[in-house]
Amino acid sequence: MDISVIIPLYNEEESLPELHAWIQRVMDENHFSYEVIFVNDGSTDGSWKVIEQLSKQHPEVKGIKFRRNYGKSPALFCGFERAQGDVVITMDADLQDSPDEIPELYRMIRMNGYDLVSGWKQKRYDPLSKTIPTKLFNATARAVSGIPNLHDFNCGLKAYRQEVIKNIEVYGEMHRYIPYLAKNAGFNRIGEKIVHHQARKYGTTKFGLNRFVNGYLDLITLWFLSKFGVKPMHIFGFLGSLMFIIGFFSAGAIGIHKLYDLYAGNPYRLVTDNPYFYLSLTTMVIGTQLFLAGFIGELIARNAPERNKYQIEKEL
Ligand code: UDP
Ligand code: MG
Repeated sequence: MDISVIIPLYNEEESLPELHAWIQRVMDENHFSYEVIFVNDGSTDGSWKVIEQLSKQHPEVKGIKFRRNYGKSPALFCGFERAQGDVVITMDADLQDSPDEIPELYRMIRMNGYDLVSGWKQKRYDPLSKTIPTKLFNATARAVSGIPNLHDFNCGLKAYRQEVIKNIEVYGEMHRYIPYLAKNAGFNRIGEKIVHHQARKYGTTKFGLNRFVNGYLDLITLWFLSKFGVKPMHIFGFLGSLMFIIGFFSAGAIGIHKLYDLYAGNPYRLVTDNPYFYLSLTTMVIGTQLFLAGFIGELIARNAPERNKYQIEKEL
């Protein structure tokens, strides 16, 4: 099979028939063999009925129905597990992404050797309250992830080589950073294609402004995991030791200074009267705690199932 199209959806019943007809037209015109996997993320409207109907009429339409709403990442994860196509395309169900981009995305993966091609909604039809924070978000994501050529990390329209999606694990709300996940898994031929974007035709957006707060936190998590996920001691142990040493020697210096004054017959004050003494103490305590955090992190990492999971590309 050439292409799997994965469509996560939550309450998008009005868009589905139109979207399916459009995909079908593009696929037939280009003679692709394909499947469309609708992942119904616990919709409370008639979305599942529509999917059942479509699937009855068209054998290439497949459906997954969650018992409740889990989120876009879980929906993508389950779609990825099921996908059979050589090239896997994800798109939103709300008709904001255009199926007309599929042939070119397919070509870029198959002919130009990309692992992943991300859409770039260069001209967006979204409210300003979304486009401005999005610019900031993408600039940060570029800097942190070390993928300088991506302008639109969270674009719903993306294409992957099958191997990529079978070897990464999207969870939580990490769908915003799939290119980063792919890069961390060693798939670094990441390309971009400018895609058409349309205003939402039916329904409303499913994400509020808290997406930006959560998005930043997730980015920090991913960065931390990719740097220190299997060796937390390397950061906490280092910082902890550094702080402890600084605290220890300053406390020592304060004590020696007092003793010196005492024996030299100078006026002196008690160590406990010196405010710097308390700073040194605090520094030592925090240092010890950081060090312990590293140790506990190592104990947890030792039990992590992925501590010895590597991406083996080829074996002879
Ligand atoms: N979506 C989903 N589960 C959710 C929220 C959203 O499957 O909990 C789907 C939604 O139906 C759509 C896609 O994810 O197909 C993108 O959502 P939306 O269009 O609301 O996001 P926006 O375009 O505003 O970023
Ligand atoms: Mg949308």
